[in-house]
Amino acid sequence: MSRTVPAVFGSVFHQEMPVLAYENGAWQPVRWQSAQDLTLSPGAHALHYGSECFEGLKAFRQQNGHIVLFRPQANIERMRQSARLLHLPVPESEAYLNALVELVKRAADEVPDAPAALYLRPTLIGTDPVIGKAGTPSETALLYILASPVGDYFKVGSPMKLLVETEHMRCAPHMGRVKCGGNYASALPWVLKAKEEHGANQVLFCPNGDVQETGASNFALINGNEIITKPLTDEFLHGVTRDSVLTVAKDLGYTVSERNFTVDELKAAVENGAEAILTGTAAVISPVTSFVIKGREIPVQSQERGYAIRKAVTDIQYGAAEDKHGWLVDVC
Ligand SMILES: *Cc1c(COP(=O)(O)O)cnc(C)c1O
Repeated sequence: MSRTVPAVFGSVFHQEMPVLAYENGAWQPVRWQSAQDLTLSPGAHALHYGSECFEGLKAFRQQNGHIVLFRPQANIERMRQSARLLHLPVPESEAYLNALVELVKRAADEVPDAPAALYLRPTLIGTDPVIGKAGTPSETALLYILASPVGDYFKVGSPMKLLVETEHMRCAPHMGRVKCGGNYASALPWVLKAKEEHGANQVLFCPNGDVQETGASNFALINGNEIITKPLTDEFLHGVTRDSVLTVAKDLGYTVSERNFTVDELKAAVENGAEAILTGTAAVISPVTSFVIKGREIPVQSQERGYAIRKAVTDIQYGAAEDKHGWLVDVC
């Protein structure tokens, strides 16, 4: 196997995947099967009633040749939370971590060098083959994990134009912290409209002026020495990268303010030289280059602090800086 990175993000999978089934009221031992296809009843609960959630995390090839997972326990805990909120069977942490580690070991030859990585996509679906269960949770489920070598999601130095959306929400407010496909389906019309009408790369959802997050990543404003981001609520996804960035920013001497802020405050700060970043596993940290607010494009004057914070996080991931917070799990 070669360590090349496919041109399209997430288009090539390691040939095998671990599958954990929940049947007869219990999680069954892991089985390994081809990642080419999956056999399901066409009546499977997930396909009709959206009983599905997923995760995204990465394994990195470090400078010393070791392969590490970045904060896998945080992703496992978040999927357990998503499962509870969707009334799906809650995966067992230990078997889940073992499956992740074993998958990375088996796919070790496919883990690319920096700045690329092996992206892991655990997926949990309700599998009851009964289309009459619209108002009943699935009593059976599958948890499987795909592994996919990936490059940078957004190229360093490329434009990141955000449409500030104040009218529509990304998803129903009580579902925001669930990492599920349904929330992406809900955001898609606004994401497509922003691309078509404004050439925007992403939508920053700010219902009634409350700055929340984009369709697939968290958002922070860097105003001088202060990093400002919305405090954790049910309305948006609690990113592992968000948490890592806030921790690293504190180490770098920033003041971290988890507080609500409005589009008016954002606009005034950016016009006065503030920076802004998107954070998420796929893109790590993407500095924003401009905002479209009420039809007017406002450039962000600098991306310097954003790139410096990005480097501080990726240096830990690739082993160029000390892992002070115990975020790395050594795989092989
Ligand atoms: C996954 C995701 C994020 C980023 O979370 P990370 O744990 O940092 O990858 C942000 N917003 C949404 C809607 C997401 O689905």
